[in-house]
Amino acid sequence: MKVLNFGSLNIDYVYRVDHILVRGETLLSDDRKVYAGGKGLNQSVALGRAGLDVWHAGNIGQEGKLLLDVLRDAHVHTEFVRIREDIPCGHTVIQNDKEGDNCILLFGGANQGVTEEQVNDVLGHFHAGDYLILQNEVNCLAVIMNKAHERGMKIVLNPSPINEQISTLPLNFVDYFFVNEIEAGLLTGIKSRAAGELVPAVRRRFPETKVILTLGAEGSFYIEGETVLHQDIFRVETVDTTAAGDTFSGYFMAGILRGKNPAEALRLASKAAALAVSRRGAAPSIPTMGEVLDFPA
Ligand code: ATP
Repeated sequence: MKVLNFGSLNIDYVYRVDHILVRGETLLSDDRKVYAGGKGLNQSVALGRAGLDVWHAGNIGQEGKLLLDVLRDAHVHTEFVRIREDIPCGHTVIQNDKEGDNCILLFGGANQGVTEEQVNDVLGHFHAGDYLILQNEVNCLAVIMNKAHERGMKIVLNPSPINEQISTLPLNFVDYFFVNEIEAGLLTGIKSRAAGELVPAVRRRFPETKVILTLGAEGSFYIEGETVLHQDIFRVETVDTTAAGDTFSGYFMAGILRGKNPAEALRLASKAAALAVSRRGAAPSIPTMGEVLDFPA
């Protein structure tokens, strides 16, 4: 059984600013940090640091070669990452102000340049029973899902950041579906963010799917038919919640694929995500399996 993550690869340019820019303003920043990011890359790094053998597929621009180094450092296979000469790399421009607030401009770039020919080429290397992990930062998702389903692959989807592309997807092909409270609310039509209302609505809307609902500091639920499991968070000093969700889904799947039951996988994922929120940054904050196992229960 092999694991393929077909997803986004971004360079995050993080600028320290006095305040978030307002319309028409020019503002000087005295500090810029460059990080690897993108929900796809973060999830591959989580899977790789959890010790799984994972292949990442996607596109970068020429200036994105540092992203390959980050993937390789996490032991992720990169032969299906294409370097596009004709499109800039996906990136974000992030302003961080002194109150700790931020705002993010996301440029899709090469992540939006996935072609049907590329999908056929990559998926041709995977077979029935292999796992495909997806988020919503690349184009062609419906093509990828249809093709993977045809080949008998298991599909794992995190629909974040949620947008109109989701309504074009064959969601009935999804085996493991990771949603946060906003996505669950939009997909079920429920306005409330309360677990007591979201959980039954998710069960009714996706009766055949294993749904993992994450509610930030309210913890997480595993919902499969009549089975509903809840896991509290592990309390830590919160430094930066970026990549909490990606760390959580990567470690949950790593747990399942290493033979843990859903309750054990929820616990493992919650510990990993707690470690990630206790550290700064996206990919750099994602722990290794050794760190997660050493985390006090
Ligand atoms: P992201 O912004 O990364 O996309 P998300 O909305 O997908 O996040 P969340 O529901 O915020 O994901 O968080 C995922 C999991 O991370 C939670 O279910 C919880 O286990 C853990 N987590 C989130 N916030 C905290 C926190 N402050 N302390 C400890 N654990 C947390």
